[in-house]
Amino acid sequence: MQDFPHDELCRWFKEEQRTFPWRGTPTPYEVWISEVMLQQTQAAVVLPYFERWMEHFPTIHSLAQASLEEVIKIWEGLGYYSRARNLHAAARYLVQVHGGELPRDRKVLESIKGLGPYTIGAILSFAFHQKAAAVDANVARVLARFFLIEEDIARPAVKKELQRRTEILLPEKEPWVTMEALIELGAQVCQKQPKCYRCPLQSHCAAFHQGKASVLPIKGGKKQYVSLLRLVPVIHAENEVLVRKGVAGKVMADLYEFPYFEIPRSLLEKEMRALLGLDLLFSRDLPEEVHSFTRFRVRLLPSLWKSLEKRPVVGYEWVPWAQLVRLPFSSGHRRILHQIKSRV
Ligand code: SF4
Repeated sequence: MQDFPHDELCRWFKEEQRTFPWRGTPTPYEVWISEVMLQQTQAAVVLPYFERWMEHFPTIHSLAQASLEEVIKIWEGLGYYSRARNLHAAARYLVQVHGGELPRDRKVLESIKGLGPYTIGAILSFAFHQKAAAVDANVARVLARFFLIEEDIARPAVKKELQRRTEILLPEKEPWVTMEALIELGAQVCQKQPKCYRCPLQSHCAAFHQGKASVLPIKGGKKQYVSLLRLVPVIHAENEVLVRKGVAGKVMADLYEFPYFEIPRSLLEKEMRALLGLDLLFSRDLPEEVHSFTRFRVRLLPSLWKSLEKRPVVGYEWVPWAQLVRLPFSSGHRRILHQIKSRV
């Protein structure tokens, strides 16, 4: 394996690293929460969420004592809500089985819900200062280029190889610094469009020398997005609004949404009467919102309706306007709520 310029990388990291509350001397709990938040989400977006989370749930015990609804509310807007549900379940498990502490043993960490190889590596490295690889998308990109790996980095065998190479290159002295520096280098310099001119690894980087930096890494199986169009009637009666809570096990579990329909606009009123059993008066259309989650891109076309009476509707609940803002909403429907809450 080619020489790895540890000193250059660590010098660069000490000078250029960004300051975050989960860096420096974080507690294992802070490492855990930040790493879970940072999956799929950029650090600048995570920052206010992390601070708010720590204000509400400063310890594993406080997280375990909170209700799932409180946890989802604090997570609201970060997406991929199974992460929040897993954190909550894991905190309860840690309190019951491990006295509210994160274990420092890989095998024990593997038994905790929601902890994958990356997060376990990050906890062992950044919280417990062990020699452990934490290969996220940033590290995979840097190393695929540095070692000129011209294979699909999404393939399990290639992932395994990247993990192996990372473990080998970590030094005995302060391996956690090299680990975090690689992540930071991927985030700041070896980005999708690499900034090789300011990279501390440049003189040893195989992709740079062969002029292949911008064509690597190879990523096959590109995500196919599914486009959806949803009509979202916001129905109110006697100062209350009709909403429903997402069912456990489904994408929007524990999040509230207005009713929605995937039908042509001309059929909406008829369909609402049939499905909801309400007599409705159309008020007006509202501006469109776009909502992306997992592999879906959804155009939401909201409209405002008044129901002549507030009859119970199976699967839905009537909630006073003032209470709606305190409920966790899916992000697209929350934007619709923000549109209308000042107007009604
Ligand atoms: Fe990435 Fe360029 Fe640095 Fe190589 S020299 S690690 S391609 S930024």
